[in-house]
This record gives sequence, C-alpha cells and structure tokens, in this order.
Amino acid sequence: MEFAEFAARAEEIEAEPADLEIVALVRDLLASADDDLETVTRFVQGRVFPAHDSTTLDIGPSLCYEAIAKAAGRNVSAADVEDRLAEYGEIGAVAASYDFGGQQGLAAFGGGGQSALTVGEVDETLQDLAAAAGSGSQDKKLDILFGLFNRAESPEARYLARLVLSEMRIGVGEGTVRDATAEAFDVPVDAVARALQVSNDYGHVAAVAREEGEGGLEDIHLEVGRPVQAMLAQAGTVTDALDDWEAAAVETKFDGARVQVHYDGESVSLYSRNMEDVTDPLPEIVAFVEDHLSAPVILDGEVVAVDEDGDPLPFQEVLRRFRRKHDVAKTAEDVELELNAFDCLHADGEDLLDAPLTDRHDRLESVLEPDGTAAVSTLTISDDADGIAAVEADALDAGHEGIMLKNPDAAYTPGDRGKNWLKRKPDVETLDLVVTGAEWGEGRRATFLGTFELSVRTSDGYETIGKVATGITDEELADLTDRLEPHILAEDGTDVDIDPAVVFEVGYEEIQTSPTYSSGYALRFPRFLSVREDKAVDDADSLERVERLVDGQ
Ligand code: AMP
Repeated sequence: MEFAEFAARAEEIEAEPADLEIVALVRDLLASADDDLETVTRFVQGRVFPAHDSTTLDIGPSLCYEAIAKAAGRNVSAADVEDRLAEYGEIGAVAASYDFGGQQGLAAFGGGGQSALTVGEVDETLQDLAAAAGSGSQDKKLDILFGLFNRAESPEARYLARLVLSEMRIGVGEGTVRDATAEAFDVPVDAVARALQVSNDYGHVAAVAREEGEGGLEDIHLEVGRPVQAMLAQAGTVTDALDDWEAAAVETKFDGARVQVHYDGESVSLYSRNMEDVTDPLPEIVAFVEDHLSAPVILDGEVVAVDEDGDPLPFQEVLRRFRRKHDVAKTAEDVELELNAFDCLHADGEDLLDAPLTDRHDRLESVLEPDGTAAVSTLTISDDADGIAAVEADALDAGHEGIMLKNPDAAYTPGDRGKNWLKRKPDVETLDLVVTGAEWGEGRRATFLGTFELSVRTSDGYETIGKVATGITDEELADLTDRLEPHILAEDGTDVDIDPAVVFEVGYEEIQTSPTYSSGYALRFPRFLSVREDKAVDDADSLERVERLVDGQ
C-alpha cells in the first residue's frame, strides 16, 4: 500500500465523529491492506512496534523538528518549526504545512522526484532508525528521518510526523482495532479479544484472522518471553467481596512494583506493569530464577525493596532500581529486593489463564521454592469479615500496604480492571464511638465481652450506630472486659447494657442509612482500632458529624 493511501484513509478516519463509522473505516482499511496488513494495523493505532515490544524509535521532539526543518528547505530552522507548532498546536499540522521534497542531500535517499513512499518502506526505514545505536546514532536518525520527510507530500507528512512522535490521535483505540479486525475477516470478536490478550500483537492477530480464521486465533497461545498485560484491581470493600463471591481469597498487598517473570528454561526476562523490559535493572531476580526454577514459566508478582531485617521499604526504592540503567551493581548493593510471586500464568508448556485462581496459585507453589530473594504469597480463603480482618491486621503489622481480595474461582484476565480483584479501600475516616453495650463471648471466649455496641453522641444522650467484633486480639478482649465490667448496668442472657464510659476508635468502609440502629445509620464492616484513652464520652463523635460524613460520601 502506498503511504499516501494510508494517509488519505487516516484523514478520513480522523474526520469521522461516529465510533461505529470509524470501526467501518478501519475495517475497510484492514481488508484492503494486502501484504501490509500487520504494519497498517499498527500504524493506524500510531504504533511502529507490537504492543508487547518495548522498542522505541528514541526520537525526541527536537530531532523531529530538525528533520522537518531540513526537509522544508534552507531557510527553515528547527526554531521556525517550533514557532509553527505553537501556532498550530500539533506536529501533524506543522509537517503538513511545509512543501517538502527536492532538498538535496544529506540523506542516502537523495532528493525529491523519487517513487512514492510505501507503507512497507516507511516501516522498514523506521525499524532501521530504531536500530541505530551508539555514537553518531542521533545524526543517523536525523538523516533517516529527513530522508522520509523529504519524500512526503503534505498528508503523508502529517501522519508520518505523528507516527514518529507517537501522537497519531485519529480516534482509533484498541477496541476499534479489535472490532474492525473481527468485521474485516468475519471472525467472532471474542476470539480476536482473546488472541489479543495472550499475544498483545494487533498486527499478528489481524494476519492470523485473515489467513486462518477463528481456529487460527484459538491457536494463539502465550509465549514465554512475550509479556502479557497485567491483570488489574479495582478499589473495593470486604462487603463487596463477600456479597459477590462465596468466599474471598485474601492476600497481602505488597507495596512495590509489578513484575512479570518469563523463564524459558534457559534465559530470564522480566517486564514491568507497562510491559517494559526490566531484566537488566534486576540482576538478583534473574539470578534467583536461573538458580531455582527448572521448568518454563510465566509468573506474576510484585518486587519489593526490603531493609536488612527483610521489612518492606517504600515503593520509591524499587522504582529507583527500575530507572537505573547504569551502575546497577552499585544500586543493587544499596537496595535489596524481594520478589513476592502471586500468580502463575503458564507452567511447563501449559497456559493457565483460564484456570481458577486457586489452581494457578497451587501451581505457583509447586514451581517456586521460596528462598531469600523470592517468596510465594499466602492465599487465605475466608468467608467471614473477622478472618479477613485478621489477615489485614497481619499484613499491616508486617509493614505492608494492606490486602487484596480476589475471587478464588476467577480466570486471569490480562489488562482487565474487573471485579475479580479488589484492592481493599483503606478506611478514609475513623469515628470515635461510645460503647453502650456488649455481648459475652462463646466457648473459649465465654469469660470475655466480645461484640461491642457502639453509639454516637446526640444533644440528649446516645444513639446506636453499629456493633464491632472485628479486629480485636484475645489480649485486647481481656483488657476491654476489665475496663468495661465495672460499667455494666444490666445483663440479659449474654446481652449486656453498659454505662457510657469508654470510647473506641473505629474504622469502617461506609456509612449507610439503616433502620437497625436508633441513630438511623449503620457502619459497614466496622473494625476496632484502639481505645481512645485521651477522650471522655463527651468528646466522642456526634450524630451531626456522622450526617456530615454521609453527605460527603
Ligand atoms: P494500585 O497500583 O493501587 O492500582 O494497586 C494494584 C497493584 O497492586 C497491582 O497492579 C500490583 O502491582 C500491586 N499488588 C500488590 N500486591 C498484590 C497482590 N497480592 N495481587 C495483585 N496485585 C498486587
């Protein structure tokens, strides 16, 4: 396909406001792309490389301005290009505003008057440009880019400039290309979506859809060494998790950086959450994998910086390592890293994306033997808020960020920020509430007060707002019983009325209106945090404050 035709189609797409029409235009573009299908599929998204490939052209804006200026003629400087940019607002319009061609020259491509640029040629030239490295590489890149602009007519220059600066912006997102591929080659959109999830290569998926149809798409599998988009989490609550699933898989939320580990049995590659190659900055993780794993795997996890005692350090410490391209050995000495693996996407030739979380985690435990540099997350399956609170308390005590709640039966859905992984929202506000009642515990805890009734202050007394039984250790229960026993007013079975005397600081996920309690409100997932020794009951939170908090929710 001639690049001019691609540019004309891009122009048409850009001018089209309706999403469905855009899909139709992209469909027609893909259907007529012939040998250039893979390239056109990338170019239309403004990509030169597949989504999984973190290679960049490494062209800064100023180099691009210089190339444009050179191609525009002797009297034009990079500063002139910048002036026009300030006026037009985007580089495509600037590039299209010059009359290129015929500049004698610097480039091997020579002057104007050559044959028309083709999509294939632009692609090959940009691949060469990306490969230029070492001393003099910026000059080489400038020459190559000049050569391209020098042969570009106005519409071509518009999209060439945007392509090289990753500013295509013609309204074609990933969903558009997915739908257009399905329509162009008459394959189910779900099959395209799945193939994209495992390959992250829109060009390849389009080619397979055209050549081999649905069956071919189904045969696209994960490939060790080719990064997969990370499954993401939504903010959510324990109540959400327990309402939606029979039980929740609870795990520490590590405060570090996401890392995907690929091991093909010989070599290791590591990728960040954005699928950038971070193998070089993390030599100790590479060494660990080489020493401890035998079968090919793709693992998902979080790399955390730890101090001498193995306690987690803030995530900025890990990012320092990611950014560090030189002197890796020195930073490795400064900051010790630990891999906390929590998922297994592929093991020994088998793709596990569709397997339930619990099976994937079992597999993870069987392939990775924890040792100094790496640990496997502990997955606790729990169907009650107390159990979850206990895991959370342990995670926080150990210096971690909090907990993740995962649907134990869910598949691994790359790139998806769905409802199957929830990062528990931290409590935003806490309330200081008065204890006005309690219940004696059962069994082992029969001599302790267990569930505490909480109240807010009003102008003429107290109104109930909830009960708390969660987040309290046995030791704390004994202490609370000692404190509250002298204030017991009346007992009825295991129920106890307590004279307002003690104030609890309580965390919660949400305040809801509720007929259950006399205040008219109820706390969702209330958790005991501490006794407010410093507060008298008159200093406890009022119903008015609760109303204000509800208004602000
Ligand atoms: P956030 O970055 O706040 O959106 O939280 C989601 C991120 O938490 C994920 O992308 C991971 O990098 C990180 N994370 C930490 N621990 C876990 C875990 N156990 N499971 C999944 N993601 C985790």
